[in-house]
Amino acid sequence: MRAEIIAVGTELLMGQIANTNAQFLSKGLADLGIGVYFHTVVGDNAGRIKESLALAKSRADLIICTGGLGPTQDDITKDVLAEVLGRPLVIHQPSMDKMTELFAKRNMPMVESNARQALMLEGSDPLANETGLAVGVALTVDGTRYVLLPGPPSEMKPMFELQVKPWLEANVEGLEALHSTMLKFAGIGESSLEHQLIDLIDAQTDPTIAPYAKEGEVAIRLTTRAGSAQEAARKLKPLEDEIRRRLGGFIYAAEDISLEEFLLRELASRGQTLAVAESCTGGQLSDLLTAVPGSSNAFAGGVISYTNQVKHRVLGIPLNELEGEGAPGAVSAETAIRMAEAVRTLCGADYGLSVTGVAGPSESEGKPVGLVYVGIAGGGEAAAVELQAWGNRSTIKLRASKSALYQLWE
Ligand code: ATP
Ligand code: MG
Repeated sequence: MRAEIIAVGTELLMGQIANTNAQFLSKGLADLGIGVYFHTVVGDNAGRIKESLALAKSRADLIICTGGLGPTQDDITKDVLAEVLGRPLVIHQPSMDKMTELFAKRNMPMVESNARQALMLEGSDPLANETGLAVGVALTVDGTRYVLLPGPPSEMKPMFELQVKPWLEANVEGLEALHSTMLKFAGIGESSLEHQLIDLIDAQTDPTIAPYAKEGEVAIRLTTRAGSAQEAARKLKPLEDEIRRRLGGFIYAAEDISLEEFLLRELASRGQTLAVAESCTGGQLSDLLTAVPGSSNAFAGGVISYTNQVKHRVLGIPLNELEGEGAPGAVSAETAIRMAEAVRTLCGADYGLSVTGVAGPSESEGKPVGLVYVGIAGGGEAAAVELQAWGNRSTIKLRASKSALYQLWE
């Protein structure tokens, strides 16, 4: 099965909007195991839409169009396809009733152009539009499958999920969907991870292995085509086992979940809480944690002890340990431990986690940019870990935050 996506809309050609519909649909079709061979973009012009449909028919057996199902003069996709296929347009009564009711409720007259949105090609399957007015259309003619969807992503996306997917499953034989497992890693960089799996990556066919790195996290997606979830699990297991054998110590979850979400879930399940004291990360660690819904179940709060004054006044760290001749300084294992212990006590939490380091761009206390100490206090113990983060100021802050979470996980 070869698919082609035709995005209709002059605004796409003029660069006023990006063709995100094609991207969304390609991804959705790939998940169903349908290969997309072409993306076409065409303006709101009957002649050129016809040309595009003819070309698509010559090289694809599934054609999905988006855009041009609305009420205005330039919304002509349905009319053009009806003409090309020689099928009259007929009213889809439920859509018409819904529209009539809506206009009556709003006390507005329904003009004929609105009614056009309830039209479908004779003999086609309607695709209900829960978030808009224009009904979608799906039909097969001479072995070619046509699907028409509206342009607004807020309408197109739910229609694809709720209407088009089931329609394709019912109308396309032998669809083997893509199934994947995600392995999430902490404490290992993308290149080192790739290095240790390079033979598997080079030899991949089915399942495929795709390493990802984003925002200080590394993940691997294992993907296979299979007719059922059980079959997929059978195909994915040997590869996952081999990866676990090599790098199991760095895997914190076998699902697409961030490290912070994972940690908070673990803490909450044990009825424990966490407090943080942040210096160089300036609140980013707390931001990561509180971005997780329900974080208050495990995250107590914390202190942004950015200056030595605040480390001293709020966290009670003696000034002579923070500055002056022979002092360990703000960026040190000693201070990281004191910060973690102090914030744990202040917040009455089970764990105290701290970060202090040099975010750059210039060195501090004669210590190099990227030097970070993470302190952990809890269970009657306290310890600090020294790390060297690299990158610019914002990457160092993010890496320091993620590393702190990793140290807690360890
Ligand atoms: P409407 O009822 O809003 O007129 P329609 O089905 O006629 O819907 P268009 O008129 O072609 O669709 O586009 C309406 C809006 O949908 C565009 O202004 C744009 O914001 C969005 N849109 C259309 N096509 C795309 C696309 N390919 N990718 C992303 N957004 C799109
Ligand atoms: Mg329109």
